[in-house]
Amino acid sequence: MPKIPFPKKKAAKEVAAEELAILERTYPRAVTALDYRNPFELLIAVILSAQCTDARVNMTTPSLFAKYPDAKKLAKAQQEDVEKIVKSCGFFRAKARNIINCAKALVEHHGGEVPREREQLEALAGVGRKTANVVMSVAFEEAAIAVDTHVFRVAHRLGLTLGKTPRDVENDLQAAVPREKWRHAHHWLILHGRAVCKAPVPLCGVCPLNGICPTPKIIAKSLGARSRPGAAAAAAPRPARRASTKKKA
Ligand code: SF4
Repeated sequence: MPKIPFPKKKAAKEVAAEELAILERTYPRAVTALDYRNPFELLIAVILSAQCTDARVNMTTPSLFAKYPDAKKLAKAQQEDVEKIVKSCGFFRAKARNIINCAKALVEHHGGEVPREREQLEALAGVGRKTANVVMSVAFEEAAIAVDTHVFRVAHRLGLTLGKTPRDVENDLQAAVPREKWRHAHHWLILHGRAVCKAPVPLCGVCPLNGICPTPKIIAKSLGARSRPGAAAAAAPRPARRASTKKKA
């Protein structure tokens, strides 16, 4: 299937609000799929999750944290020993180096604890804006939206953003989502991206957003009903409907 172009126009404000309300109702208990017991474990798990599935990270971290349960222990680890444990997460040399250096900085500058401020988080090895946003929002319940590949794709397909960079998308989502829901919104989009709005082919036929999302029309147009009847039917837009904003009891 050819790559599906993103909508060229942003959804109207009320449509965006309705899309977000549907996502919130669909994923009311959305949380991170990474296993962690404290901010240190979450931080290390998020660093390991770059270009890797959360399931794979969850298979790796029990043995990592059994051997290195805190920043002090990990700061003193040998690179080769850590590499062996994190090998299956990909980019294992860089990841092993980053988590050891990250642990060293936690010990040297933060008493072995994970800081909650963005600037201090982003100064740690292996930590960029997305990782900082995940740690801030998940570990410390701060208002932050992390933009990963699922969030980027689903936000575009829904017309919530036209942003070219993750930072642009983050800014657009911050404008569309009430601040108190920022820390939940990326989980809605991630779960929807994994389960339904998949790359490269979204399952529009079973999507609760079909009817207000602009992408099924784009798919139908680019496929053409004749050339790919099955795929076009699956993506076919449903009649527009107004979604109730009432929460289920
Ligand atoms: S209708 Fe299709 S493109 Fe739009 S959110 Fe649902 S699965 Fe994604």
